[in-house]
Amino acid sequence: ITQLYAPLNFLGFVYREIKHSLADIERMFGLLSTNQEVDDAPAAQQLDTRQASIRFAGVEFGYDSKRTILHGLNFEIPAGSSLAVVGASGAGKSTLSRLLFRFYDVGRGSISINGTDIRQLRQDSLRSHIGIVPQDTVLFNDSIYYNIAYGRPDASRDEVMEAARSAHIHDFVMSLPDGYDTQVGERGLKLSGGEKQRVAIARTILKNPPILIFDEATSALDSRTEKAIQQELAAISANRTTLIIAHRLSTIVDADQIIVMEDGRVLERGSHRELIEHGGRYAEMWHLQQEQQAGELTA
Ligand code: ATP
Repeated sequence: ITQLYAPLNFLGFVYREIKHSLADIERMFGLLSTNQEVDDAPAAQQLDTRQASIRFAGVEFGYDSKRTILHGLNFEIPAGSSLAVVGASGAGKSTLSRLLFRFYDVGRGSISINGTDIRQLRQDSLRSHIGIVPQDTVLFNDSIYYNIAYGRPDASRDEVMEAARSAHIHDFVMSLPDGYDTQVGERGLKLSGGEKQRVAIARTILKNPPILIFDEATSALDSRTEKAIQQELAAISANRTTLIIAHRLSTIVDADQIIVMEDGRVLERGSHRELIEHGGRYAEMWHLQQEQQAGELTA
């Protein structure tokens, strides 16, 4: 009977392992996308640069033919600079990051990096140049070490810890009884939204991509956390071409450029100061958020 039991036991082990990794892969794709419709062009090129300038030229896009989401968008993010996108919910902000990562192809117009249309690039090479700090970071059911090292699996332990330090999460990790071996995720320690975001930042610092997409969480934050995020954003975006999908105007006052989107079009563009002076939609949103914050402070 033991002869029979051993292989069964082994099968059980294999089954658990497969289930474990399938769940992780599913979640990873949930985090990235479910869309795999985009193929490499026959002679797709490798992208190999540390200095990426991004250009959206006349970009039109709809998830289906019935409804156009973006109506001819034009903007440029020079290498190493930052552009923040603001606008009402549903304006098409997150769609921009999905198009840049090439989950979908544009309907008309083009997106290019250093003058090359991203449809002419190999997808793996495009994606290896982009780091995303998503709204809601999904953690793998594994150690916190694995979750950070995932950004660059061949990184040394020192490099992983250095990235964690830069993301201001190292001290927190060291305060846990099992340190970097602490199991996190659904079946382990549940981290707060801010802690998860820091893990994502550490992961991205380790990956060290020239392009960064920062998708700010919609959830309301206290002003201390907001300040911390602003500092982390500044640290991580230094010298990287950065696209920020913003929900709070206070975190993007230092962005090199801001565009206000409305119904898939650019309504206003400029720096924070220019837009405030312009006295249009951005200025209106800014004053509204200031009033709300003041209200929260006195409440
Ligand atoms: P929010 O601030 O709420 O995150 P957003 O400006 O980022 O909004 P997008 O997520 O870019 O908005 O969505 C723009 C529009 O596209 C919305 O009307 C949305 O319903 C639609 N949309 C988004 N994803 C899909 C999809 N996968 N299939 C079909 N329509 C979609």
